Amino acid sequence: MSRIDRTKARNDGEAARVADALDALDEEESKRLLAEIEQAMRSRMHTIRLTDRLQKFYFLATRRQRSRIARAWFLAVVAINLLTIGIDAILHPPVLGLSLAMRAGFIPLVYGILIGVWLRPRRAWIEGATLPLAVAAMMVVAGVISRRAGFPGNDYLLAGLFGISTGVVVIPVGVAWTILGAAVAIGSFTLHGALGPAPCIRTLMFSLYCAAVVGALVPARAGLNAVIQHAFLLRLKSSIQSRALAAANARLAVQASTDTLTGLANRRGFDEAANRLLRADAGLPSRRLGIVIADIDFFKRLNDTAGHPAGDRCLEAVAGAIRACIPKGGLAARYGGEEFICLLVDPTPGTLQRLAEGLRAGVEALGWANPGLGPGATVTVSVGIALAARDGGTAGLADLIAAADSALYRAKADGRNRVVAAWEGGARGAADRGAARLPAAVPAAVPATRAS
Ligand code: GH3
Ligand code: MG
Ligand code: MG
Repeated sequence: MSRIDRTKARNDGEAARVADALDALDEEESKRLLAEIEQAMRSRMHTIRLTDRLQKFYFLATRRQRSRIARAWFLAVVAINLLTIGIDAILHPPVLGLSLAMRAGFIPLVYGILIGVWLRPRRAWIEGATLPLAVAAMMVVAGVISRRAGFPGNDYLLAGLFGISTGVVVIPVGVAWTILGAAVAIGSFTLHGALGPAPCIRTLMFSLYCAAVVGALVPARAGLNAVIQHAFLLRLKSSIQSRALAAANARLAVQASTDTLTGLANRRGFDEAANRLLRADAGLPSRRLGIVIADIDFFKRLNDTAGHPAGDRCLEAVAGAIRACIPKGGLAARYGGEEFICLLVDPTPGTLQRLAEGLRAGVEALGWANPGLGPGATVTVSVGIALAARDGGTAGLADLIAAADSALYRAKADGRNRVVAAWEGGARGAADRGAARLPAAVPAAVPATRAS
């Protein structure tokens, strides 16, 4: 994996954790979080205050990068200390033993522990405390070696102080910890100076000078924190907003492809889902597709006699019966006014025929009255089925639907309430017994229209 890939993977991992945390929020919580972000961003950049929840997201989103920066700095300090052993040996040979113990033993041990602290997610105060601890350890080393070397001016203490001051800017912790780190650095510098032989006024002067320099680093860190937090808030805001947009789009897509009356997919939903299914199946040319089209018989008469609202309730009931007999993986939709369509993947002629017959019988078993056909008459459907080896394209699907439609036309012509398969050619429907159940009141010459 290249360096760029590794960085990308790390960033993605961080983004994925934030995404998971956002997923855990419901719509209301997301809105509240957005309001917290707006509120935080209204304040001046240097005075951004993150709420507890935002703070948690901030840590989640930035922890890995902050940890890398902190660990790199600790390692750099360890490396510089190891190199400094040589300088100690040249400048003050008697301190070599102590320098070895401090710079090759004590510092790597303490900084190793601090690196370990940053390796895992910790509470903010634990991360923050690593800075003053690192500063204190380094100033102890500078002070002890300086004392052993007989206080050669402020060499050791100044080197320790300025080396450690970089941590005040670099270590990405809260400003309070940065201030404490700076205070520990200046405090230990002043203490060591006061214990040494240099005149008091000189120590004080140096301390004030150093306090001004190190103190100036604190606002620099605070500014960096503010910029990072601001960028984090902008990223979080845009990710919450794009999620909300995606969710709204998904809701709209479902609404646009669902029939509001029956809850089944509408024609558009069916076409989309069928296309998806065909695409998903691409590369498996041997599979078969089955189409079932069912049309309610004499539905206009039901409407005309019982009224449109009663017709709507009937449509709901028929849709329920159809939904009940569609196997897992199949698709059912309301394709037109009182016409329903189902797509089955890989049925045999036998299973398709049985399913269609079950559908027809299921609607009949509803016993839904169709007063337009006379007393006691119930709602039935005529069904056309077609089956084809899929050719991997929607053109094939259109032909298949047309074949099932022709079979349905024949089912109507043959007397309704029956199943006709496209492969049965001009033969009469398989369920001829259905014709015997046609209500007596139905005129013999009912036109077998296919209008829907
Ligand atoms: P066939 O047996 O030949 O299919 O006769 P049919 O009466 O069922 O067919 P036709 O095409 O003559 O009439 C269909 C009727 O379905 C006409 C239309 O008013 C009605 N319809 C279409 N959509 C709806 C709807 O959403 N609700 C109601 N209540 N009726 C609808
Ligand atoms: Mg009809
Ligand atoms: Mg129709």
